[in-house]
Amino acid sequence: MSDLIRVQCPKCGGTMKAKAKKIRGGASMPCTHCATAIVFESESREDSIRQALSHARRLRRQALAAH
Ligand SMILES: [Zn+2]
Repeated sequence: MSDLIRVQCPKCGGTMKAKAKKIRGGASMPCTHCATAIVFESESREDSIRQALSHARRLRRQALAAH
């Protein structure tokens, strides 16, 4: 099972893959296309951010359940 999550940059629309454990509330990462800091907040007004966060949460739950 892959723990990579597709993240879409709200600024340039480019997509990249990020590890699920790096995507959690309050975390941020630079866009690989435009270098804008993408901030993961559950209250983000960007659908793509909220989707990435909920996807990461689901993957982490599945990882826990597997052990
Ligand atoms: Zn970007």
